[in-house]
Amino acid sequence: AQVHHAPHVVVLTSPGVGHVAPVAEFATRLAALHGLATTIVTYTNLSSPTNSSALSSLPPVISTAALPEVPLDDLPADAHIVTLILTVVHRALPHLRALLVSFLSSSSPVVFLADMLCPAALAVAEDLGLPRYVFYPSSLMSLCTLLYTPELARTTTCDCRDLPEPVVLPGCLPLHGADLVEPVQDRANPVYDLLVDLGLDYLRCHGFIVHTFDAMEHDTLQAFRDLSDRGVYPPAYAVGPFVRPFSDTSAEHGCIRWLDEQPDGSVLYVCFGSGGTLSTVQTAELAAGLEASGQRFLWVVRFPSDMDNSAGYLGHQTTDDPVSCLPEGFVERTKGVGLVVPQWAPQVEILEHRAVGGFLSHCGWNSCLEAVCAGVPVLAWPLFAEQRMNAVKLASDHVGVALRVSGGDGAVVTREEVAVAVRELMVGEKGAVARRRARELRVEAREASVPGGPAHQALAAVVDLWRCAAAASPAPAPA
Ligand code: UDP
Repeated sequence: AQVHHAPHVVVLTSPGVGHVAPVAEFATRLAALHGLATTIVTYTNLSSPTNSSALSSLPPVISTAALPEVPLDDLPADAHIVTLILTVVHRALPHLRALLVSFLSSSSPVVFLADMLCPAALAVAEDLGLPRYVFYPSSLMSLCTLLYTPELARTTTCDCRDLPEPVVLPGCLPLHGADLVEPVQDRANPVYDLLVDLGLDYLRCHGFIVHTFDAMEHDTLQAFRDLSDRGVYPPAYAVGPFVRPFSDTSAEHGCIRWLDEQPDGSVLYVCFGSGGTLSTVQTAELAAGLEASGQRFLWVVRFPSDMDNSAGYLGHQTTDDPVSCLPEGFVERTKGVGLVVPQWAPQVEILEHRAVGGFLSHCGWNSCLEAVCAGVPVLAWPLFAEQRMNAVKLASDHVGVALRVSGGDGAVVTREEVAVAVRELMVGEKGAVARRRARELRVEAREASVPGGPAHQALAAVVDLWRCAAAASPAPAPA
């Protein structure tokens, strides 16, 4: 008799809470909606305490496994963060293979998912004959640009910020070269070639599971469907939005109690994600601009870095208080109007709080979706990765939930510019338009993720494929 085994889903995630947390939430959904067991595989290199806390309190059918540490000491000290991550992915492939082989020798057939920075691992899954997918926790538009990177490299010679014409990909907003992902901005940096390989590695998958939804990316999804029908790309499944509160104890956080005392929609929440970092000068200008705006604010403050705007990404822990880096007297002068939280705050709960009326954000994709799901308009201040592209999307006519801070490439945004932009978002006409649009989009986000709605259907469609593949796979030899 034929035995049908439920597939065992193995998801490999790159470091960073912006990657680990959506993987954890996705696995939780697979368990709750489809009864599937998942193993989340992480890297020991570059992991941080916030990564680990994203993996705490998971349901019992979700296991975790960490690949052993690999040496990185031969890389230059100034290697790009994405170079570090992609090098870890490559060097840990033998460990991943050993882990997958050990899973295969147990009873259930395996389905393999690699997150957006790990598609090199698809080659191992291909070799082992496994169904293999990419879990993509950002916009489909950004995936399209990464798939286009090999062509960009082949057909252009200049740095992409100098491209004379915008890049126009099917169903995507026209993008200036400077709005393409930040690691392709410098052709001379070794990370450029690694991104070209990344774009090619994606094509080894059977499908892309993308954290997006139709109202955010209708045209892109449509165009991608046409491309995959024509066999150009594997299909994309829009399984979003899902937003995961960071911990059960967030409600007790002092900043939530502070928000409880503020008027409805009066507070600007300021946060640059898990790793975004401002320079010393920029931190001082932002502080002065917030103060001059006269608006209430809740600011998650990190240590400034004059070297790297993603310096906080590795969860560098320190016992010092970053609040000590703010301009002298700032905290005292803004007492009552502003609250400064060092390092980390429960963002999802904050955005959903009735007192919050705006979000000054670096536009990491999780932050974008969390703002949309909470119906909060955004003041976009992109820093690195695909954040400029995310800002373009949020501010586009179609989405329309964001205003942009001015300040050119790398230029310091002055206190005057900060104050003007903050006032416009919180009490200006453009802010009011973005707020109305954010509220509409919140409704559309809810409609996308209701039981039986499009996100559930997309997930069910891909799970069906996994079950079919599992049923067709040979039963393991009896022990
Ligand atoms: N986050 C949070 N508190 C903070 C900073 C970040 O809860 O103080 C969460 C935020 O809600 C989001 C994630 O960390 O889910 C950051 O992901 P995102 O994609 O926005 O940016 P990244 O950190 O990857 O740059």
